[in-house]
Amino acid sequence: MNITTDRPTFVTHLECGLTGEKLPADELRGLSAAGKPLLVRYDLAALTASLDRSDLASRDQDLWRYREMLPVRETEHIVSLGETMTPVLRCPRVEMDLGTGPVYVKDEGRLPTGSFKARGLCLAVSMAVELGVTKLAMPTNGNAGAALAAYASRAGLECCIFCPDDTPPININEIAAQGARVWPVNGLINDCGKIVGEGKEATGWYDISTLKEPYRIEGKKTMGLELAEQFDWALPDVIFYPTGGGTGLIGMWKAFAELGEMGWIGSKRPRMVAVQASGCAPIVRAFEQGDEFAELWTNAHTVAAGIRVPAAVGDFLILRAVRESEGFATAVDDDAILAAREEMGRVEGLLLCPEGAATYAAYRQELESGRIAKDESVVLYNCATGLKYPLPPVERHLDRHQPIDYAAL
Ligand SMILES: *Cc1c(COP(=O)(O)O)cnc(C)c1O
Repeated sequence: MNITTDRPTFVTHLECGLTGEKLPADELRGLSAAGKPLLVRYDLAALTASLDRSDLASRDQDLWRYREMLPVRETEHIVSLGETMTPVLRCPRVEMDLGTGPVYVKDEGRLPTGSFKARGLCLAVSMAVELGVTKLAMPTNGNAGAALAAYASRAGLECCIFCPDDTPPININEIAAQGARVWPVNGLINDCGKIVGEGKEATGWYDISTLKEPYRIEGKKTMGLELAEQFDWALPDVIFYPTGGGTGLIGMWKAFAELGEMGWIGSKRPRMVAVQASGCAPIVRAFEQGDEFAELWTNAHTVAAGIRVPAAVGDFLILRAVRESEGFATAVDDDAILAAREEMGRVEGLLLCPEGAATYAAYRQELESGRIAKDESVVLYNCATGLKYPLPPVERHLDRHQPIDYAAL
């Protein structure tokens, strides 16, 4: 990161995503009066007047290259662990096998703490510092907690994290190793969220749950800014996004709206596809029923822990983005997720996380269903490094004291 000159930010106010209620910026906020997410609004005309997209070329290859489009006012408040731009990798062998147009994987596993949660938490913690917060708490399925722990420690803030007790052990351990107090809980992420909500008064925690403060989404928005820039300001036809709380999908859609208003991209938008697991698909159900909000999903289960989110406070924002973009929501089975992971590793050398593999499984499924045309260009989000998850064991073993049959190896 190389932010030597103080670049201004152009935040004007916060706005309720449902009612449009406006609130002043630069104050500590959680949800709106209506209990819905607050979105950060900018003076995009002034921003456009002071910044040209070609100005970006000379900047460092990290998230802070979009500094003017982000909410942190003072450079000294930025908490960074090196939020590198992530590569967009074409998959020529998959394209050849399936007979399709361009298939890209955006590999978010390269970010600090190994997942795209770093984007959101980097911004949320920086803003917590700017607004004078000292104690943070959140519920997590693993990766968000790991990112919060790292950024909070980096900033010298206290944090307390609650996760389902069947969260992948590596996640629980990394959270602890990065200096947070982590509590595995006998419940799901929404049960953990309830503990945070109910404990706020007694503890003075700032609740940094998905979409319950306005700034994580601004960090996730950089996925859309980055994608637009990497595609030379001409977006792909379809984006497959593994959807839990939906921050990334909402954030990318917000990025495209802002870039459109700034005249940096044209009117073409990708179709946004929200991918969930069949064992936990509240957004898919709401999409199919034509509902504005999603009902709680009971008995949620899937191997893709990051998208095991039975209820999302930003449900209506996810559904709105999917519908406005003329995309859809779809669910895939765990078997298909694991097969997709195996295939992408074997064929392209890309070890996806299960949630990322879900996007590939969904792509294949929807090619078959005809909802995706073969010639459409698609981006699959691999949201975390595959190394954080349990992998199938290797059963074979070589005895070096026996004669080796080389032809059989
Ligand atoms: C958090 C997470 C998701 C879901 O992201 P949202 O933007 O909250 O929907 C998907 N995959 C992984 C690996 C995650 O950690």
